[in-house]
Amino acid sequence: MPQDRTFNVLWLQAASCGGCTMSALAAEDGGLMRALGRFGIRLLWHPSLSEESGAEAVAILDDVAAGRVALDGLCIEGAVLDGPDGSGRFQMLSGTGRSMKDWIKTLAPRARHVVAIGSCAAYGGVPSAGINPTDAVGLQFAAWEPGGALGGHFRSASGMPVINISGCAPHPGWVVETLAALALDDTNPDDLDTLGRPRAIADHLAHHGCSRNEFYEFKASAARPSDRGCLMENLGCRATQAPGDCNLRRWNGFGSCTDGGFTCINCTSPGFESPAGPFQETAKVAGIPVGLPVDMPKAWFVALAALSKSATPQRVRANAHADHVVVPPARRPPKLP
Ligand code: SF4
Ligand code: SF4
Repeated sequence: MPQDRTFNVLWLQAASCGGCTMSALAAEDGGLMRALGRFGIRLLWHPSLSEESGAEAVAILDDVAAGRVALDGLCIEGAVLDGPDGSGRFQMLSGTGRSMKDWIKTLAPRARHVVAIGSCAAYGGVPSAGINPTDAVGLQFAAWEPGGALGGHFRSASGMPVINISGCAPHPGWVVETLAALALDDTNPDDLDTLGRPRAIADHLAHHGCSRNEFYEFKASAARPSDRGCLMENLGCRATQAPGDCNLRRWNGFGSCTDGGFTCINCTSPGFESPAGPFQETAKVAGIPVGLPVDMPKAWFVALAALSKSATPQRVRANAHADHVVVPPARRPPKLP
């Protein structure tokens, strides 16, 4: 990007609940716009945040499509609806007579970078759940399969594939940092994992830094959502398989799903929206969770779990089944000088 102008971002909402925008608005202490402004990032238009509507908004899109305004980042929030019959007409962009799919395919080649905001835009997400009646897909993936609305071979003007800031919703810091890195010209294809996610985020697991880590170590498991124990064994926590640093950087400066007693549903991965059973139940075979921690062979997990349970301190065991600390850590008697 030339240093003498802003980094222009156009943000469109496809099949979206708007939650990704809601999350992004809470970025840092000063909010999204100030956070982006620090890096010279300017929103050309956003359907909820911009003043322009109707013909004025369409004129902005026309200017970008015609190349009269430079487009550095095309951010798409929400899945692309391909139906019916590949026409995309399940979602029309009001006042244009064209489908959202058609607009995205027109604008994407104009953009220096294309960014999927959230798991719907990345992989299809919630609108693609179940029988997927609208043929919802992501920008460059349909669940785990490369393809999606733009096709697996799509590359933006910078030579990058679609950058997938997955999550439902993604952490606001992920959005700001990814756009900032693009504005600073500090991103290349090696910075993405095989599903297009920025590795700065996806090389962590949501399990890292969870406040329940001690309970996990001893397999001291919660039985009810209000319990303080680890949520993996009984309540469906998938954080040991979920890419993301949610428990390291926390949300709104304070909490996370697992902090709040809600299990991690691996929302940063394709297919999270269609689990085999209820979100807050752990699927098991012969008493062993089906979803084991990544990088850990099943036999190791079984052996480690048995050993850990046999060594669980009474304090940890008791607190795992309570909604507050009932047994504090042992205190050593003070030594008088
Ligand atoms: S990723 Fe989640 S929060 Fe974002 S649009 Fe989809 S359903 Fe809504
Ligand atoms: S509740 Fe989930 S994230 Fe927390 S320690 Fe257990 S497995 Fe890890």
